[in-house]
Amino acid sequence: MEFIETHAHLCDEKFNADRAETIEKIYSSGISRIIEVSCTQAEWPAALSLARKYPGKMFCAFGIHPEYSETITAEQKEELKKYLALPETVALGEIGTDYWWETGTPESQKKLLSEQLALCPQSDRPAIFHSRNGRKPEQNAYKDLLDVVHEWNYSPERRFRGVLHCFSGTAEDAKKALAEGLALGVGGTFTYKRNGALRDIIKSAGADNIVLETDCPYLPPEGWRGKRNDSSFIPEIAVFVASYLEMSTGRLAEITNHNVAELFGI
Ligand SMILES: [Zn+2]
Repeated sequence: MEFIETHAHLCDEKFNADRAETIEKIYSSGISRIIEVSCTQAEWPAALSLARKYPGKMFCAFGIHPEYSETITAEQKEELKKYLALPETVALGEIGTDYWWETGTPESQKKLLSEQLALCPQSDRPAIFHSRNGRKPEQNAYKDLLDVVHEWNYSPERRFRGVLHCFSGTAEDAKKALAEGLALGVGGTFTYKRNGALRDIIKSAGADNIVLETDCPYLPPEGWRGKRNDSSFIPEIAVFVASYLEMSTGRLAEITNHNVAELFGI
């Protein structure tokens, strides 16, 4: 049985002291492939060299996360185009809307998002989306994200055109996301005691519409909270998800790997 990690930040400084050992541990714990996700232009070169160290086992997503910038310059856009065309690249991302940290206005975030999305048809890459609602009920980041995705002029010959990573929205958001051709990313938060509603949403979305991820070094599973997360937790998360979805862990691995193949072509 093997698993694919669809969302890691192994270039994060929290791995500086033991990155190579951690990656070896991950590959020997049943994870066959990893997608390393970048959030700012400053992270792109390191992510690419990491992928080049593990050919066929480590892939990249490149993009600008709304938490790190309000805009994308013409030069950055040209640079991003080059990165999206690389053979190590499997997606644009992570990109999206984040109203929790209130970095930039919703308008600037939506503009940054749609300007980057326009690059997907040229490179034939799917997108990895991040969304987090604000503290006030009217700060609905999911709604705004899905409105922009709805206008996204990209219909690849695949079942999915992106993934909504670390899904934390409502049942309504999940329904809309699936209708827009997005898979839902499921990770450590699925195991948190208070997340019963999330588990029900994922169960009704079904294994056919999910992929597994950790978002490491953040969000370790229940029992490990406050500790550094890494992709070797995927099998533990999978056991939990499979039991909730009433299927064997092997079957869940098979289905989610198939989803990854359809999404990212790996
Ligand atoms: Zn992330």
